[in-house]
Amino acid sequence: MFRLEGETALVTGASRGIGKAIALALSNQGAYVVGTATSSGGAAAITTEFATRQISGEGVVLNLETRDQITDIVRTIESNHGSISILINNAGITSDGLTARMVDQQWDSVIEVNLSAAFRLVRACTRGMIRAKKGKIVNVGSVVGSSGNAGQANYAAAKAGLIGFTKSLALELAPRNISCNVVAPGFIETDMTAALSDQQQANLASQIPLSRFGTPAEIASLVVYLVSPEASYITGQVIHINGGLHLSS
Ligand code: NAP
Repeated sequence: MFRLEGETALVTGASRGIGKAIALALSNQGAYVVGTATSSGGAAAITTEFATRQISGEGVVLNLETRDQITDIVRTIESNHGSISILINNAGITSDGLTARMVDQQWDSVIEVNLSAAFRLVRACTRGMIRAKKGKIVNVGSVVGSSGNAGQANYAAAKAGLIGFTKSLALELAPRNISCNVVAPGFIETDMTAALSDQQQANLASQIPLSRFGTPAEIASLVVYLVSPEASYITGQVIHINGGLHLSS
């Protein structure tokens, strides 16, 4: 089950954390995976990781704050490996602060990387998906896109924006056999949450019904399912994966 032979996947932010786990999991299931990093060292490490594990894929450099790179990267992948059939918009950043003190640059960069870049990547990839009459898009959101979070108005707005974007896309692309869903993690053990103090992590874990942070591999398992043939009737959904946190969303 969940085999992905013959598929070409693009995973943004595959050098670390959740994106790395997703890239490896998709490749383990047989997809050719192009994973992105912001540095050439990061991209080379992704290529090495695939080679060491003897699974297929490569790393490429992509900085989502540089709009012009997106179309070129997609064109290059498509000319080398055929149209991209799986797009995982995973890369994300935070730049926290209370709204009253937030500077424009904090707002703009978080919206750009977490939301606008996803739009640009979808636009670039859907041409090939429409021609191929198939495709799977997963946008990685966050629990805070539904719950809000003091000190993260920019990030929560971007992640909430991804939900409206994805639902609209699902309606536009369903007739083309392309599914679009949001995976919304709670607190996951990555560099993003490692920035929290031990005390903050313990306080947060105590509010999670399963009493612990999730792992990147747990998110990757859900993504593998969503892009597999077994999930062919799921589109336009926001799937929360958060250990029971924020059950009302
Ligand atoms: P992470 O460990 O901080 O890794 C971030 C990834 O994004 C890295 O691969 C990084 O590449 C890439 N990236 C950063 N800035 C970029 C830019 N300007 N252009 C392109 N790529 C960029 O993050 P994570 O925790 O795995 O999070 C992955 C996704 O899950 C994000 O969308 C995040 O919002 C979401 N999420 C995470 C959590 C959590 O608890 N960790 C919870 C909810 C949602 P480099 O290595 O080259 O910097």
